[in-house]
Amino acid sequence: MSDRSVPKTIPSRIAGQPREGDGARLPVIYPADETQVSELCEAGPEMVDAAVKAARQSFETGPWRRMSTDARGAVMRRVQQLITDHADELAWLECLNTGLPMARMRQTHMPRAAYNFGIFAEAASHVAGQVFTQDPRYLTTVIREPVGVAALMTPWNAPVPLTSMKIAAAIAFGNSCVVKPSELTPLAVSRMIELIELAGVPEGVVNLVNGRGQVTGQALVNHDDVDLISFTGGTATGRAIAAAAGQRLVPVTMELGGKSANIVFETADLDRALDGALLGIFSNNGQQCLAGSRILLHRSIADAFIERFVARVAALRIGDPMDPNTEIGPLVSAVHRDHVLSFAKDLGEDRLLAGGVSRPGKGFYIEPTAVLAASNASYRAQTEMFGPFATFLVFDTVDEAIAMANDSRYGLAAYVWTEHLPTALQCTRDIRAGVIWVNTPMMRELRAPFGGYKDSGIGREGTQDCLHFYTEPKTATYAVEDMPLVRMGMPT
Ligand code: NAD
Repeated sequence: MSDRSVPKTIPSRIAGQPREGDGARLPVIYPADETQVSELCEAGPEMVDAAVKAARQSFETGPWRRMSTDARGAVMRRVQQLITDHADELAWLECLNTGLPMARMRQTHMPRAAYNFGIFAEAASHVAGQVFTQDPRYLTTVIREPVGVAALMTPWNAPVPLTSMKIAAAIAFGNSCVVKPSELTPLAVSRMIELIELAGVPEGVVNLVNGRGQVTGQALVNHDDVDLISFTGGTATGRAIAAAAGQRLVPVTMELGGKSANIVFETADLDRALDGALLGIFSNNGQQCLAGSRILLHRSIADAFIERFVARVAALRIGDPMDPNTEIGPLVSAVHRDHVLSFAKDLGEDRLLAGGVSRPGKGFYIEPTAVLAASNASYRAQTEMFGPFATFLVFDTVDEAIAMANDSRYGLAAYVWTEHLPTALQCTRDIRAGVIWVNTPMMRELRAPFGGYKDSGIGREGTQDCLHFYTEPKTATYAVEDMPLVRMGMPT
């Protein structure tokens, strides 16, 4: 750790003011050495109500939604600049709270968070309505209006990039919001919200409530005055939230779990495929919804590929996440470490290739792990573990690979490695997943939809999809000429 200062407490923030309240106090932990670095002040239902009221008031009476998109865009670009200016500090706070490697925080996560505000400012500036003149006696216009108060709920695996994406998308189109990040990782998100306020986003447009899902999250989801819910997290939580939202007919987007296939054909550039497979499962400490956690290998290359993969696993630099050379840090919590390691027990017919144990000493570390599964029916091939744990499978034909990829309750992403164009095209056509990466891992084009099929979610994030989610269309029809109307109540 360095001598940068960490706030003693992490309060909620309502209409620009810190609010500690009298709810539970929860420790905020540095996962690399298990020390407590701060204390989260949990928001109970009353505080959540105050946050929703502040958001509602700003939406109904404040300037934000009435501003021109150019003026709103200028404020959003100031947020982008402030995040850029404070990227070192934010990266440090994020690393301190998540154990994610500093290098990745600084080079990828913080620039992405800043960019989220820029790209949504740009998207909002291009919004245009529709005009229908098919019947020349009428002019029909469609404009899009902000919906109101959005509840934005996020997990712990990439707090600043994921939360900033939701905030930028909601406010770019004129909404107000209440943000509920994971109780495990509130540090950097809380600082980012201060920067959003500093940039000139008006009071009450972005409010923060901190606390556990069962307390703060539920109070927010069940609040009568929330108009929209955007959730990223686990599938079971998403299902419960969507059910509650359904009772009130509140629209939701759900970015949920995954068990994505990373398919390496014998026609692949195997060096690139190996790099891609390692990145797909071990980057972000293996804690990614879009991880390529099922690595499907053509039988003819399987043994050699696994041998090279295991050799690279042995050489991974695991350790202090603050060290710029570290590639893998600790998992987020002791509970999560034990959960991931539980998959390395009772292997049955699956074969352990690497890891499977925790690292001695302080911190929630595990050895990066790989298993060769006896079949795709193995629960190691079917269950999202959300850790540095690769499950290998072997196939013989393209059809078999595609069938295996699809034999999953999830459908978030798929990775395809081949230099043979028809194979790539067949996979893209037939795999049921929201995102297919061909010969590249994890490229996010923020203008394009991102999200999952099946249990991986409902709806998509991306500039166009967010425009549709965060706005309501309003249709107005004008008579262009005085046409005779049926005159009810007149004598016949
Ligand atoms: P989680 O579902 O436990 O928690 C996510 C958020 O929901 C947290 O803020 C939590 O406090 C809150 N929450 C929990 N229970 C709640 C309840 N009953 N009511 C209201 N809110 C509640 O998920 P997690 O463990 O923080 O994150 C890991 C999961 O997130 C993984 O399954 C992963 O795949 C998923 N994820 C998905 C994406 C995506 O884009 N598809 C991205 C990142 C993570």
